[in-house]
Amino acid sequence: MATQADAQELAALRALSASIGLNPHMTQAAGGNTSLKAGDTLWIKASGTWLKDALSDDIMVPVAMAPLLEAVEERDPAADTPQAFAIEELNPRGLRPSIETTVHALMPQRVVLHVHCVDTIALAVQADGEAEVARRLAGIEWAYVPYFRPGLPLARGIAEKLRPGVDVLILGNHGLVVAAETVGEAERLLRRVRSLLARPARATAAPDLAALTALAGGSAYRLPTDVEAHAVALDPQSRRMAEAGSLYPDHVIFLGQGSVVARPGEDAASVTARRGTAPMAILFPGAGVLMRGDASAGADAMLRCLADVTARVDAAARLNYLTAAENDELVNWDAEQYRQKLNAAGG
Ligand SMILES: [Zn+2]
Repeated sequence: MATQADAQELAALRALSASIGLNPHMTQAAGGNTSLKAGDTLWIKASGTWLKDALSDDIMVPVAMAPLLEAVEERDPAADTPQAFAIEELNPRGLRPSIETTVHALMPQRVVLHVHCVDTIALAVQADGEAEVARRLAGIEWAYVPYFRPGLPLARGIAEKLRPGVDVLILGNHGLVVAAETVGEAERLLRRVRSLLARPARATAAPDLAALTALAGGSAYRLPTDVEAHAVALDPQSRRMAEAGSLYPDHVIFLGQGSVVARPGEDAASVTARRGTAPMAILFPGAGVLMRGDASAGADAMLRCLADVTARVDAAARLNYLTAAENDELVNWDAEQYRQKLNAAGG
């Protein structure tokens, strides 16, 4: 830390990060990240750590900003491995900076918050989302960045859309970035944007837990940790949206491509037999959701997220789904290392 003022801001950022991390409508599992610029150093959340642990654990890593920005500018693949830019003497635990470090470095403001805000994602998956956001964020300097894989491709996409004064980014099929000169201002901007983008969730019936227990039968499937997750199977519109494909990257990383819906008469064992593999989650129309027994805390958080997002999407809207190539890119991209890190953190 360069100065006392930087140290105070970092302490404030850790407190804000923990509160964002505890709000499932703002961030889920190891998703989302926060940062502070102190001189030439960017302090950024470490890959695989959870924002909710920002006060109890050391989750911030120092990164040398100038060489990282140079790598983005030159489209150097090194920008996709931000650990190469960590300042080792200030990083005794050898933490890896978030894959989204470049998003933070590109924003000129001192404090950057990137969240997988449910209200934002619900708009950012609609084909007409950009126009709807424009109506809601009138008076705010914001930019819409279409979907790119997190890392260098997203950084390049942001660099193309950034203009002086922009302090809000809506990331298509992904989430929200807000930036400000102080932690306090960033928090106020985050609250303001979220409330401007908020839409009510469609109400659903209660899950049928007795039916779900029967459908699990002798299999290793279990109930999800959050009762809110069942809504994605109970609401016909939400279920239709989920079944049609993957809506954002963390869904693919934690739950696999798309969502599996049981056919009439199927239980967990027959779904597994039909597919030849046991899905991380199974949606049972009218009953609720079952999770595979070994599903991580991160997988549970992402299923809850899917229910929260789809319940807010306009049922009449056309949706943008990740393409087959985009799904593959996420599954195969540094996959085991990245996913296992996240899952270990969640377990
Ligand atoms: Zn993200």
